[in-house]
Amino acid sequence: MGRLISLECVHCGHKKGLAGGINPHFKPLNIRLWALRQLTKAENREIESIEKQYTVNWDAIGHTKSNKECPKCKKLYSFFEIYFKYGENLEFNCHCKCTDCDVACVEWTSPASECRCEACGKVGFKQTGFRWTD
Ligand SMILES: [Zn+2]
Ligand SMILES: [Zn+2]
Repeated sequence: MGRLISLECVHCGHKKGLAGGINPHFKPLNIRLWALRQLTKAENREIESIEKQYTVNWDAIGHTKSNKECPKCKKLYSFFEIYFKYGENLEFNCHCKCTDCDVACVEWTSPASECRCEACGKVGFKQTGFRWTD
């Protein structure tokens, strides 16, 4: 069960849907392809280089979707994240960096009114909806 929060920028009307949680029973046919498609190019390259040296058990990876904010500019993101263990004691995690500031984003805790719109760059969203999804 997930949730979907709809936000709207009070300045330019830009709409943003933030999904949280992912159905834990959801298993795509080819989880590797499915995951790689949703990750950034840099993450794809990182995983490819891991796979050159190690065997990744794609059936055992964890995945989630979470809402994060940039601690610097307050831009909101809905990140798809995967994590898996490989080798002796190594772990892969997505970095979820802000594309503007190049810093790692943190869990979204700020009120919508303090978050920045990526379309117009101004601060101020209002929540227009909330619903549970399956
Ligand atoms: Zn930022
Ligand atoms: Zn805006």
